[in-house]
Amino acid sequence: MYIVMISPECAPAAKVGGLGDVVQGLSRELSTRGNAVEVILPKYDCMRYDRIWGLQKTYGDLWVPYHDQHVHCDVYFGIVDGLKCFFIESHSFKNFFNRGTFYGHQDDTERFAFFCRAALEFMWKANKHPEVIHCHDWQTGLVPVLLFDVYKPMGMTHPRVCYTLHNLKHQGVTGEHTLRQVGLNPADYMTPERLQDNFNHGAINLMKGGIVYSNFVTTVSPRYADEIKYSDFGCGLQHALYVHSVKFGGVLNGVDYNVWNPEIDPCVACQYTIDTLDDKYKNKEALRHRLWLRQDFKPIVAVISRLDHQKGVELIRHGMFYALANGCQFILLGSSPDPSTNDDFWGLKHQLNDNPDCHLEISYNEELAHLIYAGADMIVIPSAFEPCGLTQMIAMKYGTIPVVRGVGGLADTVFDADYVSKPYHERNGYVFDGFDHAGVESALGRAIGLWYSYPQYFRELMVNGMRYDYSWNHPGGHYLNIYNHIKE
Ligand code: ADP
Repeated sequence: MYIVMISPECAPAAKVGGLGDVVQGLSRELSTRGNAVEVILPKYDCMRYDRIWGLQKTYGDLWVPYHDQHVHCDVYFGIVDGLKCFFIESHSFKNFFNRGTFYGHQDDTERFAFFCRAALEFMWKANKHPEVIHCHDWQTGLVPVLLFDVYKPMGMTHPRVCYTLHNLKHQGVTGEHTLRQVGLNPADYMTPERLQDNFNHGAINLMKGGIVYSNFVTTVSPRYADEIKYSDFGCGLQHALYVHSVKFGGVLNGVDYNVWNPEIDPCVACQYTIDTLDDKYKNKEALRHRLWLRQDFKPIVAVISRLDHQKGVELIRHGMFYALANGCQFILLGSSPDPSTNDDFWGLKHQLNDNPDCHLEISYNEELAHLIYAGADMIVIPSAFEPCGLTQMIAMKYGTIPVVRGVGGLADTVFDADYVSKPYHERNGYVFDGFDHAGVESALGRAIGLWYSYPQYFRELMVNGMRYDYSWNHPGGHYLNIYNHIKE
C-alpha cells in the first residue's frame, strides 16, 4: 500500500515528544511490512540536520495559494532513519518555519494551516496519489478538510484519510481568518457540526476539522479513547467524538525496540537480557558512578519526564521526598519549557546538592535516559492524564518497574502486582488512582516494600515486564487493518 504521513514531527530529525517517536516507529514498521511510506514535514531551521541523510532539493517551483497570492516553496528530499521524507521550505515573508523552535509562536495555527495547504499542493503537483494519507494532531487537522473540499473536486479522488489524536490538550483554536488564508470560505465551516469551537463560538478548531472530515480517527490508547469521548479529558471535543464514534478507536502506540532494547543498546554500560539479568546491576553501578551517588544497598527510583502539569510535577516532587525518606536513592531527568518550573527544580537541586542518594538532572539528555532506564529499579509516572506514554513501556523493556497513575495508556499497559485479576506472570508494576500524595505513597510504598522484603518476587515482576511485547508489531497490524477498512 502507498501511504503518506503528513506530520509536524518525525524523530530523530524533528522531535519534541512522543508524536515524533510514533511517526518514526509506525512508518518504519509499515515499511518493513512492504508498504511504500513517505513522510511530509515542514523544513524547520532547528531540525537535527545531522540525522537527515542526502538532503537535496527535489521540487523547486511550488507555488502555494495563500490569501489572494501564492507563496513560493521549495521541497527537499532526505532519508531519516531509513524513511523517505519530504521537507517543505516556505519563502513567505512570515518565515513560517525558521523560528529557532518548533512550536510556541503566536501564529502557530497559521504556520501549520499553511503547512497543510503546502503539503497537499505538493502532492497534487508532484502527482502523488497515495491510498492513505495519515495525519497527526491539530497541526494537520486541515488536511482532510482541504483534501475533500478543494483537491478532490480538482481530481485528487484517490486518497482516504486516517487522523491520529496524540493529545487533546492542544487543539489549534484560532480565528476564522486562518481558513480564509488557505483558501477556505469560513462561512461554510462555522457551524457546530463542522469546525466551530465548542467553547468559543467565534473561533474555529483545527483538531475538530480533522475529526469531522477524516475517514477514520484514532487516538493513542484504548483507555484514552474512552476518556476523551466520555469525560472532561476530551477538552470540549467529547461531543464531536461521540457523534463520529463509528469511525473512532484507540490503538496503543508501540516502542521502537531497535532504539530501546537493553540487548543491543549502545548507550548502556553493560547490555543484558532476561537470561543475563544480573548484568543490569552493572548499569546500576555505572549510573551511580556517573551521577555521583554512593554505592549502597538501596533501590534507585527514577523519573524521566517533561516537567509539565500533565506529568504531575507536584507529585514527582512528593515522590522524590517519599523515596528518599523510605530507603531509596532518587534520580530525576527532566526539563520544562516553562522557566519558573525549571527554576523550582534548580532550587531543589541546590537544596539536595550534598545528598549522596539524590541527583536531579535538569536537562534533555537522550543518551543519559538510556542509562537511567537500564540502571534504575523503579520509575514513577504520576500523570494527571496520559494519552499513551512511552516511558512506562520503555522502562519495562529494561526490567525497571513502573509505578504509575492508572489513566490513559498507563492503565492499558501497567498491571498492578497486588490488585488485578490477572495471574502473577502477567502483572508488571504498581498502579494508583488518586491524583494526590496518598496515591503516590500507596503504590511507591508497596514497590519499595517488595524490593526490600521479597526480592525474588520483585525480580519476577521485572521479568514479567520484560516479556511483554510493546513493539510496533501489533499496532502496525491494527493500522493496516484501519487503512484497508477505509480504502473499501
Ligand atoms: P510525552 O510525549 O508526553 O512527553 P511520552 O511518555 O509519550 O511523553 O514520551 C516521552 C519520551 O521522551 C520518552 O522517550 C522519554 O524517554 C523521553 N524524555 C522525556 N524527558 C526527557 C529528558 N529530559 N531527557 C531525555 N529524554 C526524555
